[in-house]
Amino acid sequence: MKMTPNQFVRLLFVFLLSLSACWPADASGSPKIVVIDPGHGGAADAGSDSAKTKSTNNNATSATLHIKEKDLALTLSKLIAERIESSEAGAQGKIKAVLTRHDDSNIDFARRADVAAQANASCYVAIHFNSDNSQRVSGPRAVIQQRSRNPNYEADERFGRALAKTIERVSKTFRPQTPAASVHDDHELHNGWGSYLFHQLNLNPKTKLIPSCHLEVEFLDNRDLEHLFFVDRKDEIFSAWASAISNELIRQMLTGE
Ligand SMILES: [Zn+2]
Repeated sequence: MKMTPNQFVRLLFVFLLSLSACWPADASGSPKIVVIDPGHGGAADAGSDSAKTKSTNNNATSATLHIKEKDLALTLSKLIAERIESSEAGAQGKIKAVLTRHDDSNIDFARRADVAAQANASCYVAIHFNSDNSQRVSGPRAVIQQRSRNPNYEADERFGRALAKTIERVSKTFRPQTPAASVHDDHELHNGWGSYLFHQLNLNPKTKLIPSCHLEVEFLDNRDLEHLFFVDRKDEIFSAWASAISNELIRQMLTGE
């Protein structure tokens, strides 16, 4: 059958249209990789201060029931990863979640950063629960690397603030007096050095410029919210936090905003 030039152009157009319908969001075809890092773990510290790799096995503990941050961080991180993987974008291969640890073990910050480099991470979120000497402070916080050491400060600030805000919205539905989300830098840690995690991520060109933050989801040691958030309504609130955080990560990774 002979085709006129017009027919050929029309056929070519239909062919290109059908290709675009199944083209992945990322022109390279590779998914966005979200690294989720459950803070702490295990029974002993991993790494060292001298190498700036030390990850403590646990930090915050609840006021009366002695619930450990490392366990809650793992539970919430796994839920977030599951939500990302089972999302529409996950099923379409546009986004993937990678956990730095899957069980109650501690790995140092060089190894955590290496998981991100090996996975070609697009962003990095460390999940933590906070503590304060007064046992009265509450509210979600994002912690980012201080400006003087951070080549990606503005992007980290946007990334962390949007994630902390999404936690605030969920927490307020369970506890209306939850304070507004805030962003803090890490200058008070390790005598001004800041978080060893950010230091290790900066050492590798593959992870130096990806958006990264610690998410301090809530204060675990606060007496007023211990039962509400971490016992009585734990399943509901962890599920809601995981959905909100995963949706925000998917939104940011797919829109680039
Ligand atoms: Zn922590």
